[in-house]
Amino acid sequence: MHAPLPPALLRQHLIDPEICIRCNTCEETCPVGAITHDTRNYVVDAATCNACLACISPCPTGAIDSWQVVPRSAPFSIDAQLGWDALPADTLLDTMADAPVDGALEARRAAPAADAAASLPAEASNAPASASARALADRAPGATVPPWSASHPYVNLYTQRTPIVATVTGNFRVTDSATASDTHHLVLDFGVTPFPVLEGQSIGIQPPGLDAAGRAHCARQYSIASPRDGERPGYNNVALTVKRVVADHDGQPVRGVCSNYLCDLAKGDAVSVIGPFGNTFLMPNHPGAHLLMICTGTGSAPMRAMTERRRRRRAQDTPARLMLFFGARTEAELPYCGPLWSLPADFIDINLAYSRTPGAPRRYVQDALRERAADVAPLLADPQTHVYVCGLRDMESGVLEALREIAVGHGLDWTSLWPALKAQGRLHFETY
Ligand code: FAD
Repeated sequence: MHAPLPPALLRQHLIDPEICIRCNTCEETCPVGAITHDTRNYVVDAATCNACLACISPCPTGAIDSWQVVPRSAPFSIDAQLGWDALPADTLLDTMADAPVDGALEARRAAPAADAAASLPAEASNAPASASARALADRAPGATVPPWSASHPYVNLYTQRTPIVATVTGNFRVTDSATASDTHHLVLDFGVTPFPVLEGQSIGIQPPGLDAAGRAHCARQYSIASPRDGERPGYNNVALTVKRVVADHDGQPVRGVCSNYLCDLAKGDAVSVIGPFGNTFLMPNHPGAHLLMICTGTGSAPMRAMTERRRRRRAQDTPARLMLFFGARTEAELPYCGPLWSLPADFIDINLAYSRTPGAPRRYVQDALRERAADVAPLLADPQTHVYVCGLRDMESGVLEALREIAVGHGLDWTSLWPALKAQGRLHFETY
């Protein structure tokens, strides 16, 4: 813990605009509404931030873990931060480096960026990291810790400033050509440059070109759709499942920058990649762990990675249950529809739900879950089960409510089961 700064100084919480990928996670996490953004930057209001650190660990890039010592009477304003392309030089900290060493500043200089506890600002001394971590865990719908048997992930090996170049070795459409929904399976190869990944992690893609303000586009995140040993086993490559965005969330026509760039890439093209990201949405290594996977659309990417990992190890591992609930608007819009059906029924229990089949009632993944309640409930009760939910953000509350109803309907105490699933890293959400 840091010694307190002189009262006239403040360790101001900032976000590094050169590293931030504008994923909105920090703004959603902040319990006091101190984080805001415009089309250019994500910024922290010094007057509102209480340095609780709730936003630190969810940030995929570490951009959030930036601090500068400033005069308490003149912190960087929101307007100033919104105009930055890079963090300003930490002049006050540098000046103080020549002064007799303050233990706090010395510790801060030595602190690794991702070590939130080590960089705990003095202002947070009444909010210990463990308390803020607990508060975050209580509010989150899912776990903030990985399964106990997950492998340790590598994260942030490559940043906006130090990206890696991958080569496209595959790009083909995985939704029916008759539908307007255009989803692609992309394979990116890293050659001999290390890029170790785990199922459930994501990567960042830096699209080329400039935004309307003349700045380089920020990176977009994509879940990895292949297992840790590569889309092609033994190769240093990853697969992605990318949906071409041609309309915004309100249905207005728009050309999504990165999704269109990716879907239009040709074999041999070079792509700028950052990451990997993600240290909790990871699969258990324990071969006896059951997987309950619930997804919609491109949320199938991490489920494909986990399923393929299990399929490759099927011969040597003891059988555990894999149950998949997969939602799409129509069958034609379901990515990987053909390959899904070639998986043996004694390996994976597949349940599909279509919400826009002409002439049929709307059916969502939560409806399919309720229909299979008699099989889902024993899985929820089993301490070996791990639940993964991925897809559009709207699905979170519906799925959680369906799981609650199923548990309660089968005599399980949801008020203790839900916190246990979270605390034990057995219920994970990745929605966007
Ligand atoms: P932009 O140029 O950023 O946006 C253009 C407009 O479209 C904006 O108005 C924006 O609000 C809107 N918009 C953005 N996304 C959507 C959408 N999905 N539907 C409708 N409107 C939208 N995407 C995948 O395709 N596959 C993945 O596996 C995947 N994994 C992700 C994992 C994480 C952890 C996160 C945070 C996001 C993931 N995404 C994934 C979403 C992806 O990062 C981009 O947001 C998406 O591809 C759109 O980027 P764009 O540059 O094409 O659109």
